[in-house]
Amino acid sequence: MLDLLLKNGLVVDPANQVQSVLNLGVKNGRIVRITRDALPALEEIDCTGMIVCPGFVDAHSHEDDLRNGEIHADITLRALRQGVTTLVTGNCGSAPRDFAAYRAAYDGKQPINMALLAGHTTIRRLCGAKDKYAPVDEKTLAAMCELLEQQMAEGARGLSMGIRYEPGMTLDEMCAMASVVKRFGGIVAAHVRGDAFQVFDAMEEFLEIGRRTGVKLQISHIGSMAAYGQMAQVLSYVDARAAEERLDVRIDCYPYDAFCTSIGATTYDDGFLERYHDVTRIELTDGEYKGFIPNMEVFQQVRKAHPEYLTVAHVMNGEEVDLALTHPRTMLGSDGILLDGAGHPRAAGAFARFLRNYVFERKLISLSEGIAKTTCQAAARFGLDRGTLGIGAVADIAVIDPERLQDKATFAEPGLAPEGVKLVFLSGAMALKDGAILRTELGRIL
Ligand SMILES: [Zn+2]
Repeated sequence: MLDLLLKNGLVVDPANQVQSVLNLGVKNGRIVRITRDALPALEEIDCTGMIVCPGFVDAHSHEDDLRNGEIHADITLRALRQGVTTLVTGNCGSAPRDFAAYRAAYDGKQPINMALLAGHTTIRRLCGAKDKYAPVDEKTLAAMCELLEQQMAEGARGLSMGIRYEPGMTLDEMCAMASVVKRFGGIVAAHVRGDAFQVFDAMEEFLEIGRRTGVKLQISHIGSMAAYGQMAQVLSYVDARAAEERLDVRIDCYPYDAFCTSIGATTYDDGFLERYHDVTRIELTDGEYKGFIPNMEVFQQVRKAHPEYLTVAHVMNGEEVDLALTHPRTMLGSDGILLDGAGHPRAAGAFARFLRNYVFERKLISLSEGIAKTTCQAAARFGLDRGTLGIGAVADIAVIDPERLQDKATFAEPGLAPEGVKLVFLSGAMALKDGAILRTELGRIL
C-alpha cells in the first residue's frame, strides 16, 4: 500500500524526459511508482488539470545569518508559498559564519531545505580583513583558505564571491580560494566586479578564475549585471569562451527588470549614474522612506544615515532579461532578499512570475524547459539529491495550477504570496495546501 497517490496530474520531470498524465506513488518519503495504474494508497489526491513537478530549487537566494541564535524565516516561508522546496543560499560573498551552529538552528525548524555556499566576504571578515577596498596579506589569505576548507568539509556546495561589494579582492586571492573549492568539486558563484559597460572586464576576470583553476563557475543574477544594452554580447562572449576553452559556466537570473541592493553598497559609489543614468528610477524601500523616489541630495543623505536600507533600482531592459532567462545556460535564481519584509518582490514572486510570463503566457520556452530551469538544472549544478521525480527520488513535489499560477508580490507589497500553488510536499509530507502552510519544520540543510 502506498502512502500517497497523486492521480491524473500532468507529471513533468525533465530530468527523466517525462511529460504525461500519470499517477505518482509515494512511500516512506520517496517516489516509488510512476504509473497509469490506479494503485491503492492511504491518501489519494486528484490532480486533474494540475502540473505535478519536482519541488522548485532556487539557484540563488539570500537567507541571512543567525540573529541572536535564530534564523528569520523571511525567505524560506515565502519560498515555500511559491512551491520552492530547496534554496541555494549564502550568495554574493555573504554566508553564515558558523556552519555547525547554522545547521543546528536550521534542521527540523525551517520549512524547506537549504544548500549552503561559503561566503568569500564573510570568510575575509572572520580572518581579520576589515577594509573592503584593500587586498589581504599572505597570512590572512592562508587563514581564509583554511577556513574555507573547513566549511567545504562541513558541507558547503561551493563558494560565493561578491566581487562588486569587496573591490579589494584580487585575482590571485580569488584563485587561491577557488583552488580549494576545485579540490572538493564545488562551484564558485560570483556577483562579478562590474555591471553595465563595466561588465565585459568583469566577466573576463571571472572566467580567468575558471581558466586558472578549472573550477566550475556560476555567474550570479546576470540580468542585473548586463541588461543595460550588453546582454546579447555578454552571452555570446561567455558561450564562445566556454566552448573554446572548455570552461564550465552556468548562469542564474531573476525575472524582473529592477535590481535590489542596500543603499550603502559599493554599487552606488561615485559615478554610478554613468551606469544607471537616472537617480529617480531608484526607489527607497525602508523605514520612513518606503516608496520614496529620491533626488541626488536625498539619496546621498539616506546613504550616509542608513547604509543598510534597501533600494530597488528600476534600471534594466526587460527584453534583455528575456534573452538571459531563455538562454540554455541560465537557470532561475530568485536572488530573494528581504529585510523584515521590505525589499524586492522577487523573494515572494520569482517562480510564479517566471512560469506565468515565460512558459504559460508568452511561451518563450517550453513547459519542460521552464520546469528544468526551476528544478533539475540547479539541483544537478549544486550536486543536490533533488529536482527530479525519478523512482527512488526524495518526494519533494510541487503541484501547480497552470491556469491560475500568478505572482502577486509587487514593489509596493513585496511579500505577497502567489496564487495557483496547490500543494507542496517535502519528503512526501504535505507542507502547503491551497496556499495555507501546514508544516514549517520539514526543512534540512542538504
Ligand atoms: Zn548579488
